Parts: sequence; C-alpha cells; structure tokens
Amino acid sequence: MKLLLINPRFPENFWTFSWVFEHIATDKASLLPPLGLATLAALTPADWQITIVDENIEEIDFDFECDLVGVCGMAVQYPRQKEILQRFRDKGRHTIAGGSYASLCPEEYTAHADTIIAGEAERVWPAFCRDYLLGVSGVLYQEKDSISLEESPCPRYDLLQLHRYQSISIQFSRGCPFRCEFCDIIVTFGRKPRTKSLAQIETELNTLREQGMTQLFFVDDNLIGHLPKFRELLQFLKEYQARHRYPFIFGAEVSLNLAGYPDLLQAMHEARFHWVFLGIETPHHDTLKDILKTQNTHQDLLTSVQTIHKQGIEVYASFVIGFDNDDASTFERQRQFILDSGIMLASIALLIALPKTPLFERVEREGRLRTQAQNPDLWNNLQGTNIEPIRQSYPELVEGFRKLISDIATDQAIATRITNKLRVLHNRHTQLGLTRWRLTGYALRFFWKGIFKGGPHRWYHVAKTIVQSMRRPKTLAWVAQNWVIGLAIQNFVREFLNHNPNPIMSPTPAQPRKQTLSDPDLITEIPLKR
Ligand code: SF4
Repeated sequence: MKLLLINPRFPENFWTFSWVFEHIATDKASLLPPLGLATLAALTPADWQITIVDENIEEIDFDFECDLVGVCGMAVQYPRQKEILQRFRDKGRHTIAGGSYASLCPEEYTAHADTIIAGEAERVWPAFCRDYLLGVSGVLYQEKDSISLEESPCPRYDLLQLHRYQSISIQFSRGCPFRCEFCDIIVTFGRKPRTKSLAQIETELNTLREQGMTQLFFVDDNLIGHLPKFRELLQFLKEYQARHRYPFIFGAEVSLNLAGYPDLLQAMHEARFHWVFLGIETPHHDTLKDILKTQNTHQDLLTSVQTIHKQGIEVYASFVIGFDNDDASTFERQRQFILDSGIMLASIALLIALPKTPLFERVEREGRLRTQAQNPDLWNNLQGTNIEPIRQSYPELVEGFRKLISDIATDQAIATRITNKLRVLHNRHTQLGLTRWRLTGYALRFFWKGIFKGGPHRWYHVAKTIVQSMRRPKTLAWVAQNWVIGLAIQNFVREFLNHNPNPIMSPTPAQPRKQTLSDPDLITEIPLKR
C-alpha cells in the first residue's frame, strides 16, 4: 500500500519568514516540519510505503503513484488543503482530510475528501487503515475521547527533510487548563493536559540528536499546563543536556503565568530554553477578564515579560485586535506596550471567531457574526474578521490594525525594541546552535542584505543598537538575530500586507452563519481499548 501525506503551503503570514529563507538562512526553507504527519506515519502499518511532502519546502507531484493521499491542515491552510484534496480525488486516489481544522469542523470536508480523520489520531488512524485494507473504510473517523499520550509513538522523523527547517517540532503534552474564550485548542484537546513519559521524550531527543538537530520547539499547546509534570520534564532536560554536552536549544509555547515561578524560569534557563512564545493578546485588563484570560491578570503584563527577559529567555508573543472593548485608542496602547516590552516577534492578528468556540457561540447569539465568515481568505486573520466590532466601524478596525503592524515594523521601532530589551535581558546563553561556516554565511548575508542595502537610515538605527550591545559584547549575535526577525516582518508588511487588496472591507451587516452538523450515521465508532 502506498500512502502520500501532504502538508499544504501556508499563505504568506508572520510565520512564513520568507525574507529570511530567501536572503539570510538560504539553506533553510521553512520554520517547522509537519510533526502531525510524522506521527501519523508512525501509526501506519509497518509494511505500507509512506512519503511525506511538505509544500512549504517542495512542490507536490500530482501524478505521484499512490493508493491514498492524506492532507493535513490548520484553519489557515484550509483553502489550499481543499484544492489539493480535490486534485488527487479527480485522479481517483482515496483522499483523507485531517489536521486541526478537520478536527474542529469535519463537516467542512465532506465534499472534498473520501475520509475525514477528526481529533487525535492515535486510535482512529490505525482503525481506518485496518478498514481500508478490508475494503470497508468509512467517511468520518472521529476521536471523541482524549487519548493517553503514552500511546503516541515516536514520530517518523526519518521521513522528513529535517535539515530544511529552522527548528524541529517535538511534543510533550496536549491540552491546556485555561479557558480563553476564543481558543479552539481546548475544544479539540480538552482542558486536562496529558503528557508523554520521559522515556518517550528521551527516545525522541536521541533520534534528533543522532540526526544533528540543534534547535527544538516544544509545540505543546501550553508546555506549563501541567506544572508537576513540567517540573519533572525540566529536571530530566537539565540532566540530559548536561550528559550530552548541551546539544539542544529549546523554545516552547507557554502561558504568561510562567513569570510567577522564578524557580521554573531558572530551571528553564539551565536546560537551555532560549525563548518562549506566549499569548499576551491585549494590555487591556478588563478585556483580559472578559475573554477569560485571567492567567494574564495576576501581575502587571510588562513586569511579567521583563521577569522572563531577566532570566535570559526571550519572549515572543501574540497580540489580538478586535475585542469588544477595543476602540480607536487601542492601537496606540498595543503599539506602546510592544515597544516598551521589546518583543520583536509580536504576532498581531485580528480576532476571529472560530467555529465551535465559546466566542463563536456568543457572537452568533449577539447577531454580530459577519456574512463573510466562510471567506477562505479570512482564516489568514491578517485579512479581516468575521466579528462585527462594537466601538468602531469595521473599516476603522481593519485600517487601524494594518497601521499598527506597519508602525511596529519600521527600522526605528525595531531599534527601540532591541534597546529596551537589552536593558533587562540578562544571563543570555551565547550558544547559537550553528556551525562556524553557517554562522559566517548568515552574518555576511545579513550584513549585505539586511544592513548595507537598507541605506543610511538603517545604518543609523543598527549602529544605535550595536553601541548599546557593546557594553555586553556577548549580546551582539542576539542583536543581529533580532534585526533579522524585525526585518522579516518588515518585508512581510511591505511586500504582502500593504499590497494585498482586502476583499472583505465592506461593512455589510451581519447574518448568522448557518452551521452544518455532521451526520452521526457517517461516524465510525472506534472500539475503545481500556
Ligand atoms: S492559554 Fe493558550 S492554549 Fe490555553 S486556553 Fe488560552 S489560548 Fe488556549
């Protein structure tokens, strides 16, 4: 049996970092490999031939000889995922849709795929493979329970072109205990975090170390979601790193309450966590309470970010525009917070009500769901939103949002953030996880493409940050790294965001979206192994 697994191309967004891969890290092509597909491959019968194609680093061969084609996707990949499914379906392949959006909204795929895998795959995927071999495969294989991650095999990293990615994904847990109103993760994975065993993590680390990987990203929904288990993991990672002479640099998704645990921050620093990505969303205290993001209200937000920076761990964060309290003053508050905190990788997006989330249900109840909810461009939430704003008009919201992104992408704003962060960033490890020749190549290309070609205005701002870092010369490489991130976002704003016609700017009155529910008869029941 021949199985082709595909990760569709992402639309251009903050995370594609096209400028970096085109001009600086030219030996890389994408940020992260599709870990879900590598896990699925490990769950597939051992005698099947499996090929993984990531369209973010290579072209898809639509004439590829195979029996089945599985295409994964997040909401933002949905338009491309549908296209790929359709093309293979037209060629007579058995097509399978999966991924986070198929898990959330399996009903959206009934016209595009022969089979839909919804929810965690550890039990339903083997069940589908078995049925397919028997010629009795169903339409929807849906996991309605939460699986134990100890059932999850080591991903087939050997099927991925690992050297083409900036970082490698690894997963310790699924689920998050919090209840942010807009979050689809807790709808899919639940609020009770489940973890792999330390023995499983050790196997995965050994596999990646043998393949020479150095930068690992814990893609857990919230790595600190289960604090006692996280403490055990940290202790293990500290010992593992010391035993193997620190082969890895780690990053992770966490929640902001991390700042309230100095012992954890210290241990993360010792285990070589260099950065964390967290959801700040808004500096507006009342909004944080309204959206049930109460974990961000325990401490002053700026103090929390600076507490993490003081441990030498860099903060990357998401910010959201379009909450009910947001008005014309919100943009400036967000801009000022981002500059003061020094967060360079500030992913700013419009609030979207994803189906099945509490936010979606509330906005629908209030009659504020926009008719354009199904516009595929919407899922790249830089284009528009499906929520009718309250305190400003829709065009004001979208224009203000775009201006905010442009304002924080200027050379001056990049330099301001670096200098603000340098004042508080201490204990930074200097390890970069790059060989000397690769580092030299990156540095030369950055000097030429990033600095020199930027002209005198850029030279001035870069010089300011270098002068500041001279007081602590070990931070020089880190300053350059921040410039690379800032310039990648600047390029994205200039080349894509500001040139992209916005198809859904018109303030059409809202109409409730008609939701289709999946037909229960289509669902294949999976016998539970207990
Ligand atoms: S902290 Fe993150 S993962 Fe957890 S509920 Fe909130 S948005 Fe979702």
